[in-house]
Parts: sequence; structure tokens; C-alpha cells
Amino acid sequence: MKKVTILIPVYNEGANLPALREALLPLIDNQLTPEPYEWEVLMVNDGSLDNSAEIMTGMRISDSRFSDLNLSRNFGKELAMLAGMDYAQGDAVVIMDADLQHPVSVVPQMIAEWEAGFQDVYGRRESRDYQSPLSRAMSKLYYKALKKSTRLDILPGAGDFRLLDRICVDALRRVRETQRNTKGLFCWIGYRKKEIPFRCEERHDGKSSFTFSRLLELAIDGITSFTTAPLRFATYMGFLSALVSLIYLIFIIVKTIFIGEPVQGFPTIMCTILFLGGCQLISIGIIGEYIGRIFKETKGRPPYLADTFRGKPVDNNKN
Ligand code: UDP
Ligand code: MG
Repeated sequence: MKKVTILIPVYNEGANLPALREALLPLIDNQLTPEPYEWEVLMVNDGSLDNSAEIMTGMRISDSRFSDLNLSRNFGKELAMLAGMDYAQGDAVVIMDADLQHPVSVVPQMIAEWEAGFQDVYGRRESRDYQSPLSRAMSKLYYKALKKSTRLDILPGAGDFRLLDRICVDALRRVRETQRNTKGLFCWIGYRKKEIPFRCEERHDGKSSFTFSRLLELAIDGITSFTTAPLRFATYMGFLSALVSLIYLIFIIVKTIFIGEPVQGFPTIMCTILFLGGCQLISIGIIGEYIGRIFKETKGRPPYLADTFRGKPVDNNKN
């Protein structure tokens, strides 16, 4: 019998876990799929500060299909997913959020596509009603820029709700970057993909832990980990300002020779200095972003640290 792992990153979801278990039961009791599967529900506790850990322990004790992995602290969802992939044993892994935003009813469709030969079946959010128009416009712009500069077609609505074949999971496990942008990595690994539209539900309880600044961080990580286009942009900017200065220089020389000019032009000098200073600072900032990444990655620290894993034993080829 094929084994399917449901991988759920959990951060302060104590209020959602019981409802999540209820929602998953029909699926893991094999009532929703035409064929039976062996199920494993792997919850990764990403350093929750509430009672999530206790609830997860209780769920594992009462039902052996549930297992729990506790990370040593909060590493963020991206790394919690990596940790889960390291410990997942399934032939396929379905990644779901713990807040019931990802409907369990879509999973059987994903499995059907997987059985039909697709290796990465992802859910694509149909409505983004819960987003403000500003954030929608910004995310549209961001994906457009990312697509242009990376030549990877990173889809805005396609998130982490997806089924990955073992081959994709192993591919993602080989990428040990600590500043991960998993959304981009899903595209980067390639493999046969299939899209399934779904309606994203409201969060069951609590509020999203992704604040604007965290999303911005993730967005910058997405760019710096997939493309060096901003560096090239800085180079172009340098060339352009040099060219403009050259033209202006010729203009001044010609003007001074033929017309003559008393000393003046303080505002022009100030504007030019400030403009160029700004360009230089932007360029240094861009270079700094990349150096920062190099600094973090060269330390070669493990991406996450696990505290306890309780479930069926896994092979030790971890981290
Ligand atoms: N999550 C996590 N670590 C974090 C933040 C979030 O594992 O540091 C989990 C969280 O428990 C949930 C999923 O990631 O299962 C998505 O989080 P959230 O609902 O806050 O984000 P959104 O739905 O707004 O993308
Ligand atoms: Mg959510």
C-alpha cells in the first residue's frame, strides 16, 4: 500500500489543532479516496509558545497515525517544512496549513492527479478577497518582476498547499539553503506539475503570523536567492548616470567656451551630488543584500535543529 504523509507546520495553532484533526479523519480513514492508503500525519511544531505541543502529543498517543516533530525554537514556516520533509516517510507528501485554510476535500483530487503521473500537484487559490487592493497590486508587480528576472514562472496564487511526489521531496531536501523561499524552489525543481484551483477558507482561529515586514523579508529573499538582476540594475544605473554626466559635461564646456559663464549653479551641483549619492547608496544596499546572503550561507549552519521526534522511526540520513 502506498504511503502518504500529511505535513503540517504548526506555530501557535493550539486552538485549531482539534478541528484540524476532525477535518482530517475522514481522509485518513480512507473514506475519501477510491483506493486505501497508509497515512501519516506529521506535525512540525515550529517552536510554538502556546499549548500546541501538548495537543500534538495527545493526538499522537490516541492515534498512531499522528507523529510530531518539535524544533528547538521558531525557525519559520519555510524551515519547518524542510524539517518535515526530512522526517516524512510517505511516497507522497501533502503540505497543509494548520489553520484549516486549505480544504481537506481537495486532497483526494491531488492524489488522483498524482496517481495519474503528476509529481507536483499544487493548489491555486481562486479568490484573494481577503487581501487588500494595495497588497494585491504589490504582489502582482512583485511576481511580474520575479518572472522577468528569473525566467521561472512563479505563480502568485500557488502556495505551499501541494502534493509532492517522493522525487520532489528528495530534490527539495538536497537544497539546504537556510534563507529559503520555498515557493520559488517548487518552480526551480521542475518535474511534472499540475494545478488544482481551490477556494482558500478563512483562518479558523487566531491571525496570520505573516506580518507585512515578514512578507517583505520573504519577498527580498525570493529575489536575492533566485536572481542577480538587481546587481545588474545597479550597473545599468551607474552607466546611465555616467552617460548623462558626460553629456552635461560637454554641454558645460561648450557653453563656457562660446558663451562664457560667471560662477553659479549651486543648486545644480547640490542636486547632482544628492542624486548620485542616492544612487550609490542604493547600489551599496543591493550589494549588501547579496553579501549578507553569502555571509549567512557560508557559515554552513544546519538550517534547523530538531528537539524531539515522536512517531515511527526514520532512517538517520538527516540534516
Ligand atoms: N507557521 C509556522 N511557523 C511560523 C509561522 C507560521 O510553522 O513561524 C505555520 C502556521 O502554523 C500555519 C502556516 O505556517 O500552519 C501558515 O501560517 P499563517 O496561517 O500564519 O500564514 P498565512 O495563511 O497568512 O500564509
Ligand atoms: Mg493561514
